[in-house]
Amino acid sequence: MKRFYYCLKCSTHLNPGTKIILTFVAKCGQGLILFSPQPGNYSVIVSEATRFRQGEVVQFCCPVCHADLTSSLNKNLAEIGFRFPEGPDGRVLFSRRYGEHATYFVTKEEARSYGENAQVYSQVNFFGEGPKD
Ligand SMILES: [Zn+2]
Repeated sequence: MKRFYYCLKCSTHLNPGTKIILTFVAKCGQGLILFSPQPGNYSVIVSEATRFRQGEVVQFCCPVCHADLTSSLNKNLAEIGFRFPEGPDGRVLFSRRYGEHATYFVTKEEARSYGENAQVYSQVNFFGEGPKD
């Protein structure tokens, strides 16, 4: 089932083809970056001149409205929306740190994590609720 990804600010559909298209700002400059829409697939496509440094925090932006996609829940995560043609809406949060593999698909009902570093953000409250005791 195809997931639609979109910008939470301007609602632009970010995967019109087979990849999610974002822009990035990094130490080496800025450019376009294509992500796999498949959870847990961390292969990306960037221009040959792009050299991310291991561990550097990359800024991701919407290619249309240029909004900074940094999550308000944790500044090391970026956030976009997703929806299924028939199914739940949610948010995808993913690590901004190059080489860190942590992705979360969050709907009203659940938060699913992907990536071998997913436990790094296990303390983040993805549902935005106050602490329960
Ligand atoms: Zn946008």
